[in-house]
Amino acid sequence: MKIIRTPRRYAPSLLTALLLLFSTFAGGTETGKKPYLDITQKLLKKGLTEEGAFVILKKITSLGHRLTASPQAAAAVELMKQEMEDLNLDNVHLEPTRVQRWVRGKEEAVLISRMFGISPLTVCAIGGSVPTLEKGVTARVIEVFSMDELRKLGDQVNGKIVFFNRPMDPTMMETFRAYGRAADQRVNGASEASSFGARAALVRSLTTRFDDVPHTGLMQYAPGIKKIPAACISTMGAEYLSSCLKEDPDLRVNLKLSCASRGSVISYNVIGQITGCEKPEEIILVGGHLDSWDKGTGAHDDGAGCVHALEALRLIKECGLNPKRTIRAVMFMDEEFGGTGGRDYARAPQREHERHLAAIESDRGGFLPLWMGVGGDENTFERLKKWEYLFKPLNMIGIRRGGGGVDIGPLAEHGTVLMGLIPDCQSYFDLHHSDNDVLAAVHPRELELGAVACAVWCYVLAQEGLTP
Ligand SMILES: [Zn+2]
Repeated sequence: MKIIRTPRRYAPSLLTALLLLFSTFAGGTETGKKPYLDITQKLLKKGLTEEGAFVILKKITSLGHRLTASPQAAAAVELMKQEMEDLNLDNVHLEPTRVQRWVRGKEEAVLISRMFGISPLTVCAIGGSVPTLEKGVTARVIEVFSMDELRKLGDQVNGKIVFFNRPMDPTMMETFRAYGRAADQRVNGASEASSFGARAALVRSLTTRFDDVPHTGLMQYAPGIKKIPAACISTMGAEYLSSCLKEDPDLRVNLKLSCASRGSVISYNVIGQITGCEKPEEIILVGGHLDSWDKGTGAHDDGAGCVHALEALRLIKECGLNPKRTIRAVMFMDEEFGGTGGRDYARAPQREHERHLAAIESDRGGFLPLWMGVGGDENTFERLKKWEYLFKPLNMIGIRRGGGGVDIGPLAEHGTVLMGLIPDCQSYFDLHHSDNDVLAAVHPRELELGAVACAVWCYVLAQEGLTP
C-alpha cells in the first residue's frame, strides 16, 4: 500500500524565513542539537509507506536460485542493472569477474543399510564436491565430533565414510559465532578425512533448527589430497544416523552424488551510484552479494542485502537529498563460491582514481536491524558513535564494533573502513543455504527498516566523512 500525503502549504513568516536561512548556513542539514534527525524521519516515513525493498526482492527471487555462473545469476545481473537504470542512478555499469561453475546434478541420496532394512536420509552435496561413481560409495561409517577426534582415530577411518556430527552451539546468542565454530567440518572435513584414507564425508547441517532440511555451503579440497565426495544431512537425519550407529556400529551407508564442476565463466558485479556533488571521488559503498546457493532462492542470503543497498539509494534520491560524497551500491557476484567478485572489485583499475572511505556490507539477512557495525580504529569508531541517536527512531540499539564481510574485505587494503548492518540473528541459520531461504521467510517491514538504516548511515557518512 502506498500512502500519499499532500504537503501543507502556508505563507512563510519572518521567523520561518530566518530559520530557513540558518539551516542553509548549517550546511543544509537541519537546525537544533541533533542534526540529520529530520532527514532520518523523512527516510523512515518514505521507506515504511512504500516498502520498495520487498518489491525488488520479489523480482530477484522470482528468477529462482542464483548459484554463481548459473543462467539465473546472469539474469539477476541484467535485472539489477535495469533496476538501477530505472532509478536513474549514475554510472550504472557491470564489472567482470571470472567465476567457477559447479552444478548439483539430479542424484543425491543417502541410504542406511542395517540388519532390519534400509532407511533413506535427506541430503545435499556440499558446494564444490566431486561426484560419487554411479553406484555410489558404500562403506561403514565412523562418527566424530571434532577434527582432533578424527586425527586421533587416524588410520582407523581408512576405507570408511566419516560422519561429522558436531552441532552448532545452541547456547551462543551470537549465532554467527556458533556457525563459525562448527563450519570447519563442512569446509575442511572431506580433506581431513581423505588424508586418513576415508572414502567420503557426511556432515551435520549447520543450523540451530531441528528439522529435516539439509543445508549446503562451500567446501575446499586441500592441495595434493585425494578429492572425496561430501554431503550434508539434516539435523534430524544426523541424530537418526547417530542413534543407528549406537545400535549397530557395523551398519553401511550408501552415498550417491552426481554433482560436477564445469570450468569457469565470466560474470559481473553490478554497480550504480548517486554521484557526490562536492567530493565525487570519495565513495561510501553499500552492498550485498547477488549470487546465492542453489537451495531456496537466496531471499535472505543475500537478496536482502542487495535490496537494502538499492532501496537505500532510492530513498536518498527520492527524498531529494544531494550527498556531498558519492554513495555507491554494489551487487557483488560470487560471494558464496570463492569471493572473486569482491576481490576483482577492489583490484579493478578504476579504483585507482577513487577513494573508498567506508564500505557497508549487508549479508546477515533481512531480519529486524539491531546495530550498525563499524570497524576501523578506535578513534574512528568513537567519532562515528556520536551519530548513534539517528538509529533510535528505527528502534535499533545503535552502533557497535564489527561489520565487514567477504565482499568488502579486500577494500581494507585501500584503507577503507569496513562496516555492516547487523540484524537480529536468532533465526538466520534456520534457513541459511537451504530450501527454507525463500521470499515467504522475509518480513517486508523488517526488510525495509534495514534499508532505511543503510540510507541514513550512507547519507550521514557522505555528508560528514569519517575524519574530524
Ligand atoms: Zn551471504
